[in-house]
Amino acid sequence: MTQRLFGTNGVRGIVNEDMNSALALQLGKAIGSFMGGKVAIATDTRTSRHMISSATIAGLTAVGVEVLDLGVVPTPVLQFYIKNRPEVRGGVMITASHNPPQFNGIKCVDHDGTEMPREKEMDIEGLFWSQIPCADWEDVGSVHPVSEAVEEYLNAVMSHVDAAAIRDACLTVVMDCANGAAYSVGPMLMDRLGVRAVTINADPQGKFPGHPSEPTAENLRDLLSLVVAVGADLGVAFDGDADRAVFVDEKGGYLPGDKSLALVSKAMLSENKGTVVTPVSSSSMVEEVVSAAGGTIDYTAVGSPIVARRMIVTGAIFGGEENGGLIFPDHQFCRDGPMTLAKMLETVVRNGALSQQVAELPVYHTEKRKFLCPNDSKTGLQEKVKEIFRDERVDDTDGIKILFDDGWVLIRASGTEPIFRVYSESKDKDKATERADRISAQLESLVC
Ligand code: MG
Repeated sequence: MTQRLFGTNGVRGIVNEDMNSALALQLGKAIGSFMGGKVAIATDTRTSRHMISSATIAGLTAVGVEVLDLGVVPTPVLQFYIKNRPEVRGGVMITASHNPPQFNGIKCVDHDGTEMPREKEMDIEGLFWSQIPCADWEDVGSVHPVSEAVEEYLNAVMSHVDAAAIRDACLTVVMDCANGAAYSVGPMLMDRLGVRAVTINADPQGKFPGHPSEPTAENLRDLLSLVVAVGADLGVAFDGDADRAVFVDEKGGYLPGDKSLALVSKAMLSENKGTVVTPVSSSSMVEEVVSAAGGTIDYTAVGSPIVARRMIVTGAIFGGEENGGLIFPDHQFCRDGPMTLAKMLETVVRNGALSQQVAELPVYHTEKRKFLCPNDSKTGLQEKVKEIFRDERVDDTDGIKILFDDGWVLIRASGTEPIFRVYSESKDKDKATERADRISAQLESLVC
């Protein structure tokens, strides 16, 4: 093996540089050999989708796989389709999620619709670097277009919310599809729920002319002002493949993902008591809301497949990340943007205006810092950090989280970049800032 192929989100790269048709062909053969039988495939809207998906399909069919082609759909639509079909052995999503349009990626879905676990990716990676035999000519696979996936998915989402109450409320939503995979399913869902949808960036223009597809407040300025201009009940923005959704209140206020995670946690706990799973990097605000609503928080390492896996094992009632990726276990064990939107609409109908719900949340201040650290120095620095803080209360679920009486500091090496991240949170803003500055400066001085 010459290099590591799979990163934290499948295989990603710049098109016709590190992500090219030769790689997609070989990876298609590796995935096909690993999964066998029937494999489903879908793409987001990127202009390179035809090139990457047809090369991947060529690889899959070359080793004898029957390919079910869903076309352009959100990642959770593909995952839901696979989850409901035991005969489908897995799937491939051609997407680079929130990355810029020159990127594309190949992401594997397991037979149960969840994101592919690391161990299985490693098996596929092993095959990728090997000589993979092709099928005899009469066993080469075929491609079958699939048109029913969206309908099934929408029906399922509708069944997990009080659709009649949402319809009766005559809501208006401004929806920013980021020129991505939500462009069709998003407005269709609003139609089914009787919600007036004012859409922006809802053309599948794969060069993303609207704005960069990471749904930050900075990138969503048009959405923020349009929500106020049309008097909408809320605004929603999806990332490129619509597994994440972020929200804007009716006054044009941007909700960081931990706030929507807290509000939906509260709504889920009003229906069933139980555990909410989230990574150690999430705000303590979520824990406070969950506890007040009669639930228990369960912290994991960072990464949505890890959150989903823990939810399956423990029977959690809900889970999610602070980036707008929420997981509804009765629906499916993966992040789901349109499902999150439907649930958020239900909370507005039941609990009142979004700005009011947000105003009732406890206030915490989070400061984020980062500093450069070469990849081969990360382990050494991690050990030094443990030594420095050995007398403090520490949680080492992921990186090192130092627990203070009035907050915490999390120190983590990035999985994708040569940097360390420092998150500092407290109800006291000055303390959060002072600890973030002091600890990141202290650790940066230790980098060789
Ligand atoms: Mg995504």
